[in-house]
Amino acid sequence: WSDSTDSIISTESADESGCRSSPIRVVLMGARGVGKSAIASIFAGAVDSMDCDECEGYAGEVCERTITVDGEEAMVTLLDTWDSEDEGGGSQDQCIQTGDAYLLVYSITDRSSFLRASEMRISLRQQHPAQNTPIILVGNKCDLVRCREVSTTEGRACAAVFDCKFIETSAAMQHNIWPAFHGIVQQLRLRRDTKEN
Ligand code: GDP
Ligand code: MG
Repeated sequence: WSDSTDSIISTESADESGCRSSPIRVVLMGARGVGKSAIASIFAGAVDSMDCDECEGYAGEVCERTITVDGEEAMVTLLDTWDSEDEGGGSQDQCIQTGDAYLLVYSITDRSSFLRASEMRISLRQQHPAQNTPIILVGNKCDLVRCREVSTTEGRACAAVFDCKFIETSAAMQHNIWPAFHGIVQQLRLRRDTKEN
């Protein structure tokens, strides 16, 4: 269970507040079936994230909300459009270009999804050559211990090679989902702070 859920203060978009700086656009990338929509539905505040045949039931593929990270609010727009871009003939490259930050999701129970994540990391590097684009490699489904195909050590090593952060999550157990979003916001702030100085 995520112990940082209590730090979420506002769930609605902050339209009455004057400070409407542009939201952080976070893109969910990853092979089909790794749990992107399950993660998005937790972000969106769906109560039972594991009615997952109904994962499509959360409010669309784009969700915007305000989260509080280190006592400061951040507007985050989460885009779960990766698979539909693929289907609709839309370009995933475009999806890559619109993001400020990326959650690169694989399933720890599916090695091919881990390999796909590496490929996506390479596309990201090609299109965002800046070193400091916030990217977190997310090993989801860590509740499925008996089906594990990718070890934590491998995941961490891959993240080190690809110069990004690493976290293992379980959308099913709502484990480490919020820390992943908080990590993205923290990375972006760090980047902005270094830019300003
Ligand atoms: P997507 O294609 O990446 O959007 O994946 P979905 O979110 O639709 O999830 C695919 C399947 O994996 C669904 O049946 C989910 O219930 C299941 N799933 C997603 N996350 C987890 C998780 O953390 N643990 C387990 N056990 N199942 C999960
Ligand atoms: Mg999906």
